[in-house]
Amino acid sequence: MKRRVGGLETEFGLVCVRADGSRALEPEEAARELFRPVVAMGRSSNVFLRNAARLYLDVGSHPEYATAECDDWWDLVAQDRAGERIFAELTAQADARLAEAGHDARIHLLKNNVDSAGNAFGSHENFLVDRRGEFTRLPRYLLPFLVTRQIVTGAGGVAPAVPGEAGAGAGAQFVFSRRSDHMWEAVSSATTRTRPIINTRDEPHGDANLYRRLHVIVGDSTMSEVSTHLRFATTDLVLRAIESGRALPELGLADDIAAIRAVARDLTGAAPLPTAGGGTTTALEVQQRWLDHVVDLAEGEETEVLESWQKALDAVRTGDRTWAGQNLDWAIKERLFTQVRERRGIDLEDPAIERLDLAYHDIDPARGVFFALQRRGLAPAILPEERIERARTVAPTTTRAHLRGQVVTAAQEHGVDHVVDWTTLRLTRRGAMPVQVMDPFATELPAVDALLAEIREQDAPAEPPLA
Ligand code: ATP
Ligand code: MG
Ligand code: MG
Repeated sequence: MKRRVGGLETEFGLVCVRADGSRALEPEEAARELFRPVVAMGRSSNVFLRNAARLYLDVGSHPEYATAECDDWWDLVAQDRAGERIFAELTAQADARLAEAGHDARIHLLKNNVDSAGNAFGSHENFLVDRRGEFTRLPRYLLPFLVTRQIVTGAGGVAPAVPGEAGAGAGAQFVFSRRSDHMWEAVSSATTRTRPIINTRDEPHGDANLYRRLHVIVGDSTMSEVSTHLRFATTDLVLRAIESGRALPELGLADDIAAIRAVARDLTGAAPLPTAGGGTTTALEVQQRWLDHVVDLAEGEETEVLESWQKALDAVRTGDRTWAGQNLDWAIKERLFTQVRERRGIDLEDPAIERLDLAYHDIDPARGVFFALQRRGLAPAILPEERIERARTVAPTTTRAHLRGQVVTAAQEHGVDHVVDWTTLRLTRRGAMPVQVMDPFATELPAVDALLAEIREQDAPAEPPLA
């Protein structure tokens, strides 16, 4: 597939604390407060926004933002960053209401994947793939890539000491990804119970005769625009190689779950990983083989992707973090934690490091440590400010998100009740016919024009837009 649609779902961690850091409200209660304006606007805690993204509150009190369908990975990064800002604004409003009601309480939304009690939550990457392309063949090639990808796109973090274990690796340790300890299966159709790397639930959100949606649920939430972009751009290139039908690197691992944990803990990228064929490989080798394999598939801007990917691998291979320490989440955090440890004479297990880790992922533009680093030039700021701000209210223009965005925007402006999802656009008035948009690439459709005309005829008072 030359042009591919993709989307990113982010579940946020939520804590509500007093000024002294103690818990103020239970997450359920804080989430309800956070979603009050959403429910007031959409009469539901599951709404689609003007930028065609989905904002919702699932079970477990993890607010979620799912970007609209993008076919350009920088658009996707912009839509994702816009989601942080939308939630940051909702958080500020909720804090103000709580303060007004006399509560000593502040809500923090964290774009990370593990809470302090050790529960994991997700960041799901979605890729449109051809139904014809033998979906069953994908995991064999994709899994070794996904298992080792964390040395490039992991968010970094501190894995707690393994109780009862002595010797090397026994203490708390900096790792490429903390999520690796929470993966239990390579491929499955269940998301929560078993946490597979690839989820195979067949829900294409499009024409099921033509498409499938590849649902990758192993990724870390990433703050760095470079890391987020690399997650999609490198995976897209690997998918394209698999789809091309040519001979592929046979890098199947003997045990994907054992490997993903080992890779997380091995900052050299050189630890031997048993392969299905009986030999061994390393995380660096798997990544380098894929990079070399897709070189000829890269076009235009994608050559920059290859350069960044190579720089990331070099950082692991050589230990030189000059580039990575300013661009990739795991290396930015590694550098930050090292500095703080040295300055304050503390070790990795110190609670101050855990607090710093959480603060790195705080999406509040003023309080979040990632954004503070960005302002000081110590973390990448690739996207122009206008592009991020625009993505808050404008959907990507090159996918069907454009149609959804127009309908939601018009319906909000004219105060017309509507329900939409990824494939359906419908007014709630009795007898209204739903418009199906089964082609994820559709940007024009006469039925949508008719729907827009009907909406614009109505002149109910406009609701103030949420976002
Ligand atoms: P759940 O949250 O229960 O896992 P879900 O996987 O269906 O449900 P949503 O949270 O609704 O996920 O998000 C779907 C994501 O898939 C969005 O980011 C959206 O942009 C993207 N998407 C929609 N249609 C397609 C498609 N045909 N191919 C690939 N991605 C798609
Ligand atoms: Mg979701
Ligand atoms: Mg999902």
